[in-house]
Amino acid sequence: MDSKQLYQEVILDHNKKPRNYGKLEDATHRSEGLNPLCGDHIWLAAKIGGDRIESIAFEGESCAICKASASMMSVAVKGRTVAEVETLVEHFRAMTTGQEDAETSGRYLGRLTVFAGVKDLPSRVKCAILPWHTLHAAVNAEAVTTTEGDADPVARAAE
Ligand code: ZN
Repeated sequence: MDSKQLYQEVILDHNKKPRNYGKLEDATHRSEGLNPLCGDHIWLAAKIGGDRIESIAFEGESCAICKASASMMSVAVKGRTVAEVETLVEHFRAMTTGQEDAETSGRYLGRLTVFAGVKDLPSRVKCAILPWHTLHAAVNAEAVTTTEGDADPVARAAE
């Protein structure tokens, strides 16, 4: 299976059965993420105990790429420390904006490298990054985040 087929399989699978989708009643951290370019709008909730993400959930209206990214992210970050999660956020951002080669990203991101291809699809980069932005905002106690303005991942990468 080539990387394009794998990408499509993963997106389809996570859209059909999104992991950790729904509400998290005992969340300690929450954030809302907006990507006006596509219309993605998600809510993310996490329960952080000590410095570890004990549980995480997301919901909202989003396109397939955003939903699959959020679903895979939720699996990848569960049980990790906030510091580890911030490292993943940085590598995911670097990979999807083409700032890092796939091999380097792969050492940190594992299966999440299926999203490496979005760097060639500028209109989809923000869809893939939005859940990660929203998680970063949640762990830093920012209530709302957006892919526009100062937080624009594409603009940031160009700096
Ligand atoms: Zn989208």
